[in-house]
Amino acid sequence: MTEPKMPESPFDQVAGDLISIAVQLGAAGAAVIAVDRIVIEDRLASLCREPQCENFGLSASCPPHVPGPARFRQWMKASKGAVFFKIEVPSDSLFSDDRREIMGLLHDIAAQIEQHAIEQGHVNSKAFAGGSCKMIFCREQPNCAVLANGKCRNPAIARPSMSGFGVNVGKLIEACGWGNGDLQNGGAGKHGSFAALYGLILIG
Ligand code: SF4
Repeated sequence: MTEPKMPESPFDQVAGDLISIAVQLGAAGAAVIAVDRIVIEDRLASLCREPQCENFGLSASCPPHVPGPARFRQWMKASKGAVFFKIEVPSDSLFSDDRREIMGLLHDIAAQIEQHAIEQGHVNSKAFAGGSCKMIFCREQPNCAVLANGKCRNPAIARPSMSGFGVNVGKLIEACGWGNGDLQNGGAGKHGSFAALYGLILIG
């Protein structure tokens, strides 16, 4: 006799779509993660301040302008699950003129997954990427528009960095079985001649 199937939760119903969307947009891998697999460490967030990242304080998406690990833990408690994804690029490209475009793609995928989750009724979903949106999207601008007047120039694409919230990216990589490679500051991992960059979306 076959076991009766448990009805899918609203999160389960949307999770498969979110993975497909991530891959369609260019992710090399994407996985659904239980919220309790996300490890938040205050000491990781404090690395933005000491030793100070060159982007510290430049945008509303980085410390000290983000609410940090304590708030992230609250968001986790209110979330039904999470999607973690990676993009893979030639390592050399991160040190080339292509870097901004690559980082922009990372933010774009994260933001689009968040938007799809919101459209499916998970209205408190939140996306996180890596790197400074000031350096990626507003490099030629004198300031972050949010800090200057409260309105982001790139609200559809720019997302905060996981670093400022103390997300242990290495633990997420392990949880996905992707291998840790040589994880570096900012969530980029080297895998031979390729580097991986990561994004996370809390589905709330
Ligand atoms: S205005 Fe520019 S620097 Fe400020 S949050 Fe938006 S994208 Fe980032």
